[in-house]
Amino acid sequence: MTEQSTFPPPPSFADVLAAQKVLRGYLAPTPLHNYPVLDAATGAEVWVKHENYLPIGAFKLRGGINFMAGVPADQRKRGVVTASTGNHGQSVAYAARLFGAKAVISVPENANPVKLEAMRANGADVRLNGADFEQAKKHGERIAEEEGMQFVSSGDEPALIAGVATHTLEIVQEKPDVDAIIVPVGGGSGASGASIVAKGVNPAIRTVAVCAEASPAAYLAWRDRAWREAPNRTAAEGLATGAPYMLPQSILWENLDDFVTVSEGEMFAAVRMYLETAKTLAEPAGASPLAALLRLKDELAGKRVALILSGGNISPQQLRTVLESQA
Ligand SMILES: *Cc1c(COP(=O)(O)O)cnc(C)c1O
Repeated sequence: MTEQSTFPPPPSFADVLAAQKVLRGYLAPTPLHNYPVLDAATGAEVWVKHENYLPIGAFKLRGGINFMAGVPADQRKRGVVTASTGNHGQSVAYAARLFGAKAVISVPENANPVKLEAMRANGADVRLNGADFEQAKKHGERIAEEEGMQFVSSGDEPALIAGVATHTLEIVQEKPDVDAIIVPVGGGSGASGASIVAKGVNPAIRTVAVCAEASPAAYLAWRDRAWREAPNRTAAEGLATGAPYMLPQSILWENLDDFVTVSEGEMFAAVRMYLETAKTLAEPAGASPLAALLRLKDELAGKRVALILSGGNISPQQLRTVLESQA
């Protein structure tokens, strides 16, 4: 894997407003809930953005629908192909079904079976290939070339970023006085979108990103303002990337206020805390913003903090591991 030197221009705040209009026909806004027990546990006034309640159980659907709405009819017929560890593939599969497009999803062999089942249920052609995301991505790019399909980057795609950014637009429309928004980072589309909205609406709103200590490439690239590869060992597949995407990185370099990393144990504890306090199911990536809030407890004490609960697609096996790992 080498550094990409070219990528498309970033979406603007106006692009996010346009995406919200597109999505209105397909998705209702997700709930933004406050749980006093969660406030007590964190010391902040916490507003949970329930992206786990979207039809695919993850925020990426916003991006998939916004992207597919812009694909010309003839290309929809030829098809799109993408690589995914799970939720991005589900999003593209769901959106493809909605718009009558053909979709091929290249996934690593160890992919979460719950997510594969959902992709297939949406009619996608799921192809297992490679030990990790980078290998599945190479395979997907090859399929696109051989079969005349459009390859959809999960990170360097402005229409995906503008689409997912609508989660933060909904938050600031409902709670304009929020102090901080904490967003998980895999490829960085969600966090870069959130930062575009926060800066567009009120630059005083802090956008804080979180990624897994065990897969720190995105954090290192942000910290050093440079391409960084790193080991990719997290069990949180939403955060499992070994190399940064430079379009979202370039946006984060401009806009992001803070970036923290959390351990596997901290994410697991946050999954349990969501179960106990909000009676809601988060996958480890989805719980990582809560883990980050607990890390930043002193700094964010008494503040109004929105957490993007980005997804709830945890497999029964993962959930067992999380519950059994309880200290
Ligand atoms: C993809 C994903 C993330 C990371 O989002 P990016 O936009 O790739 O940074 C976080 N949580 C969940 C549940 C995801 O599916």
